[in-house]
Amino acid sequence: GKKGWRDRLRGSAFARTLGGLFSRNPRLDDDLLDEIETALITADVGVTATTQLIQDLRKRMKAREFADAGGLLRALRQDLLAILAPVAVPLEIDPKAGPFVLLTVGVNGVGKTTTIGKLAKRFKDEGRPLMLAAGDTFRAAAVAQLQAWGERNGVPVVAQGQNADAASVAFDALQAAKARGTQVLIADTAGRLHTQQGLMAELGKIKRVLQKLDPGAPHEVLMVIDGTTGQNALSQLRQFHAAVGVTGLVVTKLDGTAKGGVVFALAREFGIPIRYAGIGERPEDLRVFDAQSFVDALLP
Ligand code: GDP
Repeated sequence: GKKGWRDRLRGSAFARTLGGLFSRNPRLDDDLLDEIETALITADVGVTATTQLIQDLRKRMKAREFADAGGLLRALRQDLLAILAPVAVPLEIDPKAGPFVLLTVGVNGVGKTTTIGKLAKRFKDEGRPLMLAAGDTFRAAAVAQLQAWGERNGVPVVAQGQNADAASVAFDALQAAKARGTQVLIADTAGRLHTQQGLMAELGKIKRVLQKLDPGAPHEVLMVIDGTTGQNALSQLRQFHAAVGVTGLVVTKLDGTAKGGVVFALAREFGIPIRYAGIGERPEDLRVFDAQSFVDALLP
């Protein structure tokens, strides 16, 4: 549902600066544009996107298209929506994929493990037979966390011993999922290895091994990105995309102090669908990404 977005994003830098700006009933002039520009840059919308947005608004202001600051705000809303609308494409599970394989990637700490739990709960509530693969074999805690989650929720988790080969775990899991007629397999992966090249090589290997059993797998390479990491998120996505071909994004931690604006920078630079947004720690806080709810929550 659309409920809760505004509540959860109220504290974001984006909502706060723009809210403060427009609560002072500003005049429609160049100073207002300068302040909006600063707010967008501060919120990590990125210099290129911000410059484009401000140029568009300035041109339209000069052409007397806006009667007042409120008119300009409505135009900004439209412009922001236009950036996000093309990437607000929900994930569709093909129930005939046999199983639909979701490979989750992302660096440690972004919320990957909790996102897997939230997604698994969602799929389970939708009545989809489900299995998890504990592929972050580099972190014993990640394997234990998934196993505990699986036990609590009655979802089978395929795991091997610590430091097992992640590709072998993925292969086992897909084989087991096929044998059981599972509809969805969510495979976790490491978020850190001894080296960055080592990690990218491992992810590539997992993908190739899955394709031996099903040329269509993984059906989704879902990258989890921490919305508070700003422009860093862009370089992370660039790297993972080059290594495994990311097909969908989850942007987490958009609640609280998140800069949030990085969502626009991600959308503009990559055009990769944003499937879900994390706007809190509860399971129901992982929302299907909705451009309108998001933009509405950020603007006064
Ligand atoms: P991982 O290392 O990527 O597996 O990260 P975890 O799944 O362990 O999550 C790291 C922390 O981020 C945990 O404390 C989560 O509760 C928290 N977290 C994840 N998603 C969100 C979110 O959308 N909002 C907030 N506020 N916290 C989140």
